[in-house]
Amino acid sequence: MNLEGILSDVGRNLRSSLIRELLKYASVPGSISFGGGVPDPNTFPRHELAEIAKEVIEKEYAYTLQYNTTEGDDQLATQIVKLLERTYGITGVGRENLLFTTGSQQALDLIARVLLDKDSICFVEFPVYLGAASAFRMTFTRFESVPLEEDGMDVNYLEKKLEELDKNGLIKKVKFIYTVPNFHNPAGVTMSLEKRKRLIEIAEKYDILILEDDPYGMLRFEGEHLPSLYKLAGPDRVVLLNTFSKILTPGLRIGIIIGRADIVRKATMAKQAADLCSPSLNQRIAARYLERYDLFEQLKPGIELYRKKKDVMIKALEENFADIKGAKWVNPQGGLFIWLTLPEGFDTMEMFEIAKEKKIYYIPGEAFTIDDGKSSSMRLSFCLPPEEKIVEGVKRLREVVEEYGKKKGLI
Ligand code: PMP
Repeated sequence: MNLEGILSDVGRNLRSSLIRELLKYASVPGSISFGGGVPDPNTFPRHELAEIAKEVIEKEYAYTLQYNTTEGDDQLATQIVKLLERTYGITGVGRENLLFTTGSQQALDLIARVLLDKDSICFVEFPVYLGAASAFRMTFTRFESVPLEEDGMDVNYLEKKLEELDKNGLIKKVKFIYTVPNFHNPAGVTMSLEKRKRLIEIAEKYDILILEDDPYGMLRFEGEHLPSLYKLAGPDRVVLLNTFSKILTPGLRIGIIIGRADIVRKATMAKQAADLCSPSLNQRIAARYLERYDLFEQLKPGIELYRKKKDVMIKALEENFADIKGAKWVNPQGGLFIWLTLPEGFDTMEMFEIAKEKKIYYIPGEAFTIDDGKSSSMRLSFCLPPEEKIVEGVKRLREVVEEYGKKKGLI
């Protein structure tokens, strides 16, 4: 049988994630990887979770080992309502405004399924979180990319684009504006309060939904927490996506859609078709964990660990890259990523061949574009390697840049 002959348009369009391909190299002995955006396992509260898991399997097996409702665990919902109030100052969230998903990746997929068509338009940031682009792409939607600046998306560019689409009679095709406002993956930047307000104004002017994806908001190292778009504009304008992946463990695969009841209801129906329900066991473990422990307190050592690693990487970048004219990087106030941009002419994908030889890995910026456009940037993740490896890794990276730059006559 010829596979091409039986593939759907979606099937034919599927591509292996560049990140997954590149990360295969990271297990080579002696290598240092700034590639994966996965949390440090030392931050997982494994003893607490193990105790809770044993307890809820033994005592609540009729629930935890059974199918769940598609909406998910009510006890976890109660905890989330409390957490939303404490973390974001968000009130008024009812059960009908919440859907638990299998990671927030599934939330992105479900939202795409219920909102996007082939001829729809969705706005994303440039660079874009790759997983969101992959989920949205399944619908064959048209993308509009809004460049990111140091204080978040270029809202003037966004407004201009929307104005154009409005003039051309296409504004109704625009389904949402997708944004990661805090410690962006991959760009590391945070949207300023001013821009948050501008974005909402623009979205209101053209009556467009905002899809706010916030996996990293609680991982702030310094500076003041900024109000979420959802808090500022409310559920009629914003759907908020959240996840336990970076604040507890990604292994539980628990994401959350917080939004208008009618949108949540549609996403619930789509989830029913996708996987019936997310695991009862995982949700109940998370519920008990939140009941028993103060998540804010529990997170403190992890945040401190990341902050230290980030500082080590920033210092190493200053020491190794300050003399390369045109090289720049973002010092993030939280999250897991630093975005390093090299002078014009560098192609970080092509340069990856030299990086492989020197056993230092990063994610080329090309992975975070919609059209696989060449990029002189790269995502560096500081969360996994120990501090001494960060220092050594940045030194190796400098050697890679120097070798490639000289070969190409760029430095
Ligand atoms: N959104 C963003 C911006 C992310 O960085 C990630 C994880 N890397 C996700 C969503 C998906 O996370 P998960 O499915 O583990 O909740």
